[in-house]
Amino acid sequence: MSMYQLTQIPSEAQIRKLLRRVVFGSTIHCPLCSSRKTTNFEGRFRCKKCRGRFSLLSHTWLAHLRLPLPQFWLVLWCWTEQIPVKQTARLTHLSLVTIYHWFEVLRSKLPEDQELLEHLIQLDEAYFGSKSKNTLRALFVGKQVDSKKLAYKIVNKSYPVREDAWDFLRQKVAPETQVATDGAKIYRGMEKWWPVTHSYDLHRKFEFEQTSEIEGVFGCLRTFIRRMYHHVSCDKLPGLVHEFCFRFSHPEMFESPYQYLLITLRLVPLS
Ligand SMILES: [Zn+2]
Repeated sequence: MSMYQLTQIPSEAQIRKLLRRVVFGSTIHCPLCSSRKTTNFEGRFRCKKCRGRFSLLSHTWLAHLRLPLPQFWLVLWCWTEQIPVKQTARLTHLSLVTIYHWFEVLRSKLPEDQELLEHLIQLDEAYFGSKSKNTLRALFVGKQVDSKKLAYKIVNKSYPVREDAWDFLRQKVAPETQVATDGAKIYRGMEKWWPVTHSYDLHRKFEFEQTSEIEGVFGCLRTFIRRMYHHVSCDKLPGLVHEFCFRFSHPEMFESPYQYLLITLRLVPLS
C-alpha cells in the first residue's frame, strides 16, 4: 500500500457513509417513489410502499462500479489533484487504459454549462494537432477580465475565418461587451457584426498588454494537457478543454472527491 492510500483515502466504511450522505442526504429514501419507509438488509434496501429494491449506488451513475470503493476513491482523488495518468496507474495498481477510461468518465460527468461573458473580455485563438496529419483544430477561448469566467469554441479547421470568430461572439459574449484581441485579421470589424467595442494589440510592435490574461490561460491549458495526459488526440480535445475550463472556473469542485461527488452524484432513473 502506498503513502497516498494511507494518508488520503478514507476507509471503506467512511466512504460508504460519505456516499450515503451525498446520495440520500439525511434520510435513506426510495429512489423510485421517495418513500422513507424502507428496510435494510446488509446494504440492500427495500421500499415498503412500492416494494422497489435499491442499494447505495444502484440508482446513480456508479451503479455498475466494479472497483472496490477505496480504489475508486483513490482514482477520483488522483483526478481531482491532477495526478498524471501514468502516476495514477502506478498508485492505484490499475492499467493505463483503465485510468484513461476512468478519467474520461469523471470528466463526462462535469456539468455542461458555459457562461456568457460580459463587461471586459480578452479573446484569442490557439491551435492543436498537426497540419500534416490533417488534425489541426483552432480553439477560441474568451476570458472575462478579473474573473474566472471562460468560454470556448473548437473549430474543425486549420484556418479559422472571420465567421468563426463572429460565431463565438454571438454565442458566448453579451452585447455591450468590450473585447480585446491581438491584431489578427479575423477579429477586425467585429463591432459591425455584434454590438461590442473592440480594441486590439499588434504583436509585431511588442504590444501584449491587452491579451496577457488570455495568453496566460492558453499557457496553463497546454501545461495541463502535457503534464496530466501527455498529449491530446483531436477526438479528445473537446473533453480536455471542457475539463480544463471547468477546473479553472470552478476550483471548489476539485477540492476533494466528496466535493466532486456532491455536484455529480445524484439519484437518476435507471436506464
Ligand atoms: Zn418506493
